[in-house]
Amino acid sequence: MEIRTCRECGFILGTRPNSKDVDGVCLACLNKDRKKHINWKERQDWLTQYIKETKNENGRWDAMIAVSGGKDSCSIVKRLIENHHMPHDRLLLVHICDEFTQSEAGKYNLDNLVKTYNLDIMDFRFSPETFIEETKKDFLETLHPLKFIERQIYNMPLEIAEAFHIPMVFIGENPFFEYGETEECEIFYPTSTDKVKIICMGAIWPYSNIDSLNVAKEMGFKTLDDFDDWMRQGSADSYTQIDSKGYMVHHWTKFIKFGFQRVSDLACRFVREGTLSKEQAEQMIRDSDWICDPLAKKDFCRTIGITEKQFDETIDKFANRDILVKDVNGHWRRKDLLFPQ
Ligand SMILES: [Zn+2]
Repeated sequence: MEIRTCRECGFILGTRPNSKDVDGVCLACLNKDRKKHINWKERQDWLTQYIKETKNENGRWDAMIAVSGGKDSCSIVKRLIENHHMPHDRLLLVHICDEFTQSEAGKYNLDNLVKTYNLDIMDFRFSPETFIEETKKDFLETLHPLKFIERQIYNMPLEIAEAFHIPMVFIGENPFFEYGETEECEIFYPTSTDKVKIICMGAIWPYSNIDSLNVAKEMGFKTLDDFDDWMRQGSADSYTQIDSKGYMVHHWTKFIKFGFQRVSDLACRFVREGTLSKEQAEQMIRDSDWICDPLAKKDFCRTIGITEKQFDETIDKFANRDILVKDVNGHWRRKDLLFPQ
């Protein structure tokens, strides 16, 4: 199988079902230009007015955000309160826990977010045995280990919002637009209920990683570099998805199935956002997209109760041999990068 990459950002094309491109340019790159034609100021004014008018007459909160404490949740909260004048006591944070080890940076950032704006927060933890059983089954049978918790992270905040009559739920970027599935940067994210509206902040303020990081840093957000419990490998940065260690394995399994994971996702995004050159991104992908962070792997195996040998055997079973090959050290690598033509 011949491996193709996007002419503009270098992202691997065609290895995932439903992935599309136009003449060798990925849809995310095509949407990057569409962003320039959006009237952001008009959308920001609209949101300020919408928040003013949208009240919960039957309960104590008007809006909710599902937070990890990451840069995106911090920047959403900061903008809602400081730019759109949302009263802090009308905002509820919901934090969905997983059973993996939390990083020091993750714990610090969540606590800092809550204290900075004096917010209400609800911690939601699923019955641990269910989490472990489902995650183990999904890993061993389909190599999609976080299928269960991802579904809960989406559904549970909506259920909580409905139960407390909260009319607005805020999320970060609109993934359909950012990854090119749709050409419209819609403000409202589709939901199965008309009682709750999900609003994408990435459709109100132009979303980029660096913008999100800078806004979060203004309120004291810290990265993995500020702590010494996790020198993360197989990653393009030290500030995205830094709260849960074992969770990283989920992203890395994409490499085994489709030949890319977080390093590709982020490095190519940095190219689109103008903070990396395509050559730098390609180098980064070649150097570290294949690496499974050892601490994440250990934490993952310990949490779901399997040995690292069982882990490796499962990986070998699912490895996409059309595009991957084992190197001399027994690591799965992209054929085209290990043996360039
Ligand atoms: Zn691209």
